[in-house]
Amino acid sequence: MKFRVYRAGRNGTDTRYELYEVDPQPGMSVLEALFEIQEKYDDGLAFRYSCRGAVCGSCAMTVNREPRLACRTQLANMAFEKPLALKMFPALTKEVQWNKSEEVLIEPLPNLPVLRDLIVDMDPFFEVYRNIKPWLEQAEHETAPSKMSTEEVIRLDKYANCILCAACYASCPVNEKNRVYLGPAALSWAWRFIDDPRTGDKDERLGLASGNNGAPACEFAYNCVKVCPRGVAPASAIRSIRSLSKGSQ
Ligand code: SF4
Repeated sequence: MKFRVYRAGRNGTDTRYELYEVDPQPGMSVLEALFEIQEKYDDGLAFRYSCRGAVCGSCAMTVNREPRLACRTQLANMAFEKPLALKMFPALTKEVQWNKSEEVLIEPLPNLPVLRDLIVDMDPFFEVYRNIKPWLEQAEHETAPSKMSTEEVIRLDKYANCILCAACYASCPVNEKNRVYLGPAALSWAWRFIDDPRTGDKDERLGLASGNNGAPACEFAYNCVKVCPRGVAPASAIRSIRSLSKGSQ
């Protein structure tokens, strides 16, 4: 199996694509193929990973022009998986000589600066995430932790399942043109805290999420929903923020 892999020197200089051949083994993931490339061809190939089990989110990269977790992408499934049919935008379509029928194309996440090879700078992603106050502040009169019903926990879990991998941010056409747009992950977390019955500062949070660079800027391309490895569905969080903010005006 052939892999065309994006390579870049420090801070994204000296960019090129290299072609490698890997012998696919049963159960092999894209991440394991990258380990083999490191061992066989170039131990300088740089990429992030940690848990290898779709929990830490650090191995997100672009596989055949779709942001994915490398650890969760099985080589054996790639031949018959339907494409995600993403709404394309320039960062996802930049020209490259790539034989689609024979090669797997591996690139860093778009919408984030490349530090080296497949490693991107996650700072812009975490900066917008920090803007929504991703922590719980209970109402002042609360002295003990409030209990939540099972239904409430299930409702919030849908958003708290986010592992901050940035696949949605990288697949978002709005994030490409507006780097301070909060983006799908931050807005999902914003809704997770707005909708938490224990939250004491709902209005402030709603204001943060409904500013010009928040939920109103979403164009509903739905790429975030298609790429999310955790089924978070950021578009529904964004809709909820929009409708609550309209109702409160
Ligand atoms: Fe990753 Fe999904 Fe969270 Fe976006 S919402 S950062 S795709 S887990």
